[in-house]
Amino acid sequence: MNKSLQAFNTFGIEAYADQLIEINSVAQLREVLQDITEPFYVLGGGSNILLLNNLKGVVLKMSIPGIKVERTFKKVVYLSAGAGVNWHQLVLYAVENDLGGLENLSLIPGTVGASPMQNIGAYGIEIKDVFHRLEAVEIATGKVKVFRKKALAFGYRNSIFKNKLKGKYIITKVWFKLTKPPHRLRLSYGAIQSVLAASGVDQPTIRDISNAVIKIRSEKLPDPREIGNAGSFFKNPVIDVKLFASLYQQYPKIPHYPQADGTVKLPAGWLIEQCGWKGKRVGNTGTHVRQALVLVNYGNAKGSEIQALALKIRESVRQKFKISLEMEVNIWD
Ligand SMILES: Cc1cc2nc3c(=O)[nH]c(=O)nc-3n(C[C@H](O)[C@H](O)[C@H](O)COP(=O)(O)OP(=O)(O)OC[C@H]3O[C@@H](n4cnc5c(N)ncnc54)[C@H](O)[C@@H]3O)c2cc1C
Repeated sequence: MNKSLQAFNTFGIEAYADQLIEINSVAQLREVLQDITEPFYVLGGGSNILLLNNLKGVVLKMSIPGIKVERTFKKVVYLSAGAGVNWHQLVLYAVENDLGGLENLSLIPGTVGASPMQNIGAYGIEIKDVFHRLEAVEIATGKVKVFRKKALAFGYRNSIFKNKLKGKYIITKVWFKLTKPPHRLRLSYGAIQSVLAASGVDQPTIRDISNAVIKIRSEKLPDPREIGNAGSFFKNPVIDVKLFASLYQQYPKIPHYPQADGTVKLPAGWLIEQCGWKGKRVGNTGTHVRQALVLVNYGNAKGSEIQALALKIRESVRQKFKISLEMEVNIWD
């Protein structure tokens, strides 16, 4: 146990691993997989994990670099990026080169390699909307395999790599299909429209949208460099219409988003807030003052303390609303 992981997870949890190996290429990854005898963990930017204990094994830190324009057509451009590329740097690269599609996903922490895992999403788009294909190494055989969009079974904060293929592949490179101007702008989120209007922008570019999203996120979400967190701790629950109807009777102000299949999505943050948790501090942990869905480390919290708080919150929501919240953050034990 000699490698501290505190700087490698955005919760800032102090935990140790036996060793951390930076993976910089597919060839190196395949060699490491061939030789490795200990258990291992695949790490990107550590912005969606909660470390409960020291890790008995090796951490493979995905650092494969490189952003490349692969093919250019009249209306679209195929852009690829190595698994270790910082997500926001990729978004900025696209915006600077006037390639449309990623701008609403500005400032999401983490790496390109982790982005398909939970189909990252924000402000009206998900990665599935711009995803083309990815390359991954099969852990059992070391073989390189290409997965196209359909094979990934993308869902809300979900993909095949969180289900059937969990723990079986390591993503090494991702391709995106982006647009050349004129772009299709996604402006459905009221907050984006408000920021654009306040800045006097009536014909927004993708750079204006990216800047608006950066402004909104910086004001709303805690910066992990200042206070440890992993963004939304729980997924927004999707419930059936019968349960929704009974909740709506009791709570007519409940925010809700009807889904195409007849189910209804509810904001987990609102449910947690209604249970009195917003801004509450419990020892070294708590929920953020501006966003109850974000659990925070006020300093020196252990992973188990954050998990205990999460379980208490989940139980309150279950008792009050009969809804069982699902964790979005990956627990590492
Ligand atoms: C302040 C804040 C705001 C956030 N906002 C959003 C948001 O708006 N929308 C959203 O969707 N998410 C959000 N997140 C969550 C997080 O940023 C994303 O889930 C991100 O994709 C995680 O990337 P990472 O590289 O940090 O992954 P890690 O935390 O390192 O890993 C996450 C999981 O993916 C696996 N993994 C990582 N890399 C690979 C790879 N190359 N191959 C195979 N498996 C891999 C890990 O084993 C782990 O299980 C937020 C987080 C924070 C801290």
